[in-house]
Amino acid sequence: MSVRVRFAPSPTGFLHIGSLRTALYNYLFAKHHGGVCILRIEDTDRTRLVEGAIEEQIASLAWAGVTFDEGPHVGGNHGPYTQSERFDLYRTYGMQLVENGSAYYAFDTSEELDAMRLRQQAAGIAPKYDRSTMRNQFTVGDHETQRLLGENAQHVIRLKVPLHTDVRFHDEIRGDVVFAGREIDDQILLKSDGFPTYHLANVVDDHLMEITHVIRAEEWLPSTPKHVLLYEAFGWKAPTFAHVPLLLNPDRSKMSKRHGDVMVRDFAEKGFFPDALVNFVALCGWNPGTDTEIFSHNELIQAFSLERVNKAGAVFDYKKLDWMNGEYLKSRDPKELAAELLPALTARGYQYIEPDFVADVIELVRERVHFLKDVTEFADYLFGDVLSPLSSELAASISGNDTLRTAVKTFRDGLNNASIADLEAFKGLSQSAAESAGLKMGAFMKPLRLILTHREVGADLFGTVHLLGAQRCSVRLDSFLSS
Ligand code: GLU
Repeated sequence: MSVRVRFAPSPTGFLHIGSLRTALYNYLFAKHHGGVCILRIEDTDRTRLVEGAIEEQIASLAWAGVTFDEGPHVGGNHGPYTQSERFDLYRTYGMQLVENGSAYYAFDTSEELDAMRLRQQAAGIAPKYDRSTMRNQFTVGDHETQRLLGENAQHVIRLKVPLHTDVRFHDEIRGDVVFAGREIDDQILLKSDGFPTYHLANVVDDHLMEITHVIRAEEWLPSTPKHVLLYEAFGWKAPTFAHVPLLLNPDRSKMSKRHGDVMVRDFAEKGFFPDALVNFVALCGWNPGTDTEIFSHNELIQAFSLERVNKAGAVFDYKKLDWMNGEYLKSRDPKELAAELLPALTARGYQYIEPDFVADVIELVRERVHFLKDVTEFADYLFGDVLSPLSSELAASISGNDTLRTAVKTFRDGLNNASIADLEAFKGLSQSAAESAGLKMGAFMKPLRLILTHREVGADLFGTVHLLGAQRCSVRLDSFLSS
């Protein structure tokens, strides 16, 4: 049996990082097994639709490299993948359950339901549809039901949950799971407007689309016994379930906006590489069983298995994500990175942005930053000649120091392309410049950096001088000497 999985987002907002992980696990599982990953839009709840959400979610998934083999936007195929286009079908299936006695008509008004909830609250019991006291097919009988239907009385269709049996199912991540029948609500399957609820549409589609594994977030675990009952009611084989653990804030609360970014597009805008984000997210809740942390797209596909998805919630460590992005920054081709950075450099009006030069700058400084865009600010003094003003404190630390002036002058006089072309020559020149003024090499390097870059910290000084070239360095040294 070949694997068929689906990612089934509801277009109620932009793509959440937790949803990216769910999509990713489905995708990796499918690819690992040579199976099919389907995108299905679950838009049955018309009140919660957010305009543009479908497009945004699809764009975010594509950005992350999570692709689908079937779905509304695959190869221009609109197929059976958007639930709002299939409402009649769900109704037909829902009514089958009424006919076979697995579901029933309920005519309660919203006032009656409110009153029931209040009674339950007052009695200190969990709110749940209490069929014995309300107006439904059980209490009013078939005859009265037919009469009410004849009158077009408002009604819903509810699942008839067997109150006295436990519902059991196996979860690939959580093991055997049991819910007591009396704790399961008689879920509404068809609403009073005839629209299906998530539960009915989800089960019907998973069956019709021949889904073999339902991999979804843990928050859906309490819905699963209802789904298991629905499969039984239809006489269908249920898929294999796997509920993936929650993503948590560092304080172990459920991941939320208050602690940082949660939408995929926020991460994209911050400058994370899609591969780095995907690599990181894959490891939030799944472990490869080794110490390896950096996985290419194909390595993830190779290594992924549901057996290694943890039960416990996974803390989303923002710092570690920054680190991982830095690792990707270090490993990527500098020429490609240069091409990506170029628009930002052009926008800032820099003078020295010839692609090979930019690639060299990136190679020089990328050890020191986590994000490509940070290279701009970090190496500002390499891309242009307008240096940010020195603070008065730093300016004071180098001005009026005759020993330093002497060393700088010697250094400047010896500076030519040959002297900065190789490390040994550069070291020799710096050494003799420092010594001629009676300075220690270390005591010379710090002010030399300040003079050349107006920064206290930066990339390797030799590399910086090398990239600046003798002429640009001389101009900066002369400016110091003439000040
Ligand atoms: N539409 C549900 C959601 O928004 C899908 C849950 C499931 O995968 O069954 O997450």
